[in-house]
Amino acid sequence: MSSFEDFKISKQLGYAIEDLGFEKPTPIQEKAFPVVMSGKDVIGIAQTGTGKTFAYMLPILQQLKFSKQVNPRVLVMVPTRELVVQVVEEIQKFSKYLNVRVEGVFGGTNINRQKEALAQGTDIVVATPGRLYDLVISRAVSLKSVKKLVIDEVDVMLDLGFRFQLNNIFELLPERRQNIMFSATMTEDIEMLILDFFRGTEKVSVAVSGTPLENIEQVCYEVPNFYTKINLLEHILKDKENYKKVLVFVSNKKSADLLFSQLSENFEDEVCVIHSNKTQNYRLRSIEQFEEGVHRILVTTDVMSRGLDLTKISHVFNFDTPSFPENYMHRIGRTGRAEEKGSSILFYTEKEAAAKEAIEQLMNMEIPQQEFPETVEIATKLTAEEQPRILEPDNPHKRIDADAPGPSFHEKKEKNKKTNQGGSYRREIAKKYKKPKTRGDKNYNKRNKRKKR
Ligand code: AMP
Repeated sequence: MSSFEDFKISKQLGYAIEDLGFEKPTPIQEKAFPVVMSGKDVIGIAQTGTGKTFAYMLPILQQLKFSKQVNPRVLVMVPTRELVVQVVEEIQKFSKYLNVRVEGVFGGTNINRQKEALAQGTDIVVATPGRLYDLVISRAVSLKSVKKLVIDEVDVMLDLGFRFQLNNIFELLPERRQNIMFSATMTEDIEMLILDFFRGTEKVSVAVSGTPLENIEQVCYEVPNFYTKINLLEHILKDKENYKKVLVFVSNKKSADLLFSQLSENFEDEVCVIHSNKTQNYRLRSIEQFEEGVHRILVTTDVMSRGLDLTKISHVFNFDTPSFPENYMHRIGRTGRAEEKGSSILFYTEKEAAAKEAIEQLMNMEIPQQEFPETVEIATKLTAEEQPRILEPDNPHKRIDADAPGPSFHEKKEKNKKTNQGGSYRREIAKKYKKPKTRGDKNYNKRNKRKKR
């Protein structure tokens, strides 16, 4: 365990830390400090409350030299106005003994006052993307001197649909800059963003569950498809005695809606849902009703559940297997808190088996496998994603690799490769007697005999 002295920080930062009463760096600060200092692009996986703001701000403040220039050199983007206010306050505390100018800008308030403030010159701008863009377009601020870009809570940012605004801002930033992102969860969207804009990114993350694994009983079921997962979930949830307060995780809004509407058929007054396409009021009501025990089951996405303080969760269901193992740790960390015993159930399809193995590797343990209950019906209906792909061999516009398997593709096990073609006896006979395959092919055998002669 290191101390702040190991970071060799300036005296001024040391005094501020003393005033704040911080004794030692938190794990994410310890891990992020050298990487941010190195100037590499960084993605930090850490939740609110882990000390993540200081994790990126400490090295930035350490490297920021005094300057009188007007244009900001550090840009911090966050998804909400509340977070702008909070991050500005934190920076002010850390830089108490430094000569650093920081300005917060966000929408929904008078833009002119923000223009005036920026005209005075600033070192660090903390902003929501929409308002920042308006300010740049109206030439109230220039981003051409930004050397360090921080995007905090990038998962929420993308979930709220800010990708377009982010792209616009990236266009206005200098090519040579350090990118630093922080997120509570890792998502496909974040991976895309990194691939598009980051270079040689280093990942730092901390053990996020916060709950000792011994407190959580974990099991998993191999399930063939989405609708069978619903059948299995409904089968288990019939036991209302044990499954008192249940969180069901899915990775995206679409699955959350589909699952919610399916579950509502059998558990109408017991289930509620939250994701980012629901209004704030709807979400608050759902969470309140779940906390008060009006609803027993809450369906949620990874991103939405972060920051929620839910108590006494009896079971966490992983309706799908997270492709980023850290998200699994987040999910199961919702149960088994404060000395209580918790329980986690994972459903995985054959396609998700590799993701399950990655989770097991991260935890350094195998998740015990449960037998699929015989009484649960195997669904034949498939979701749009599960439908077999239609190949178009003659389409001249097709991309060459369009039919190639995706990154999560893996070969079927031998026993699963068999396909049911029906009528095995008829097929045997047909082979033996070389029966014509179509009515118009009656001379098939004759023709073949002739050839042989
Ligand atoms: P954050 O995760 O950035 O929202 O920080 C959560 C809280 O932890 C804030 O109130 C910080 O002031 C506080 N904090 C940050 N770093 C430390 C530290 N090294 N020791 C104690 N508290 C800290």
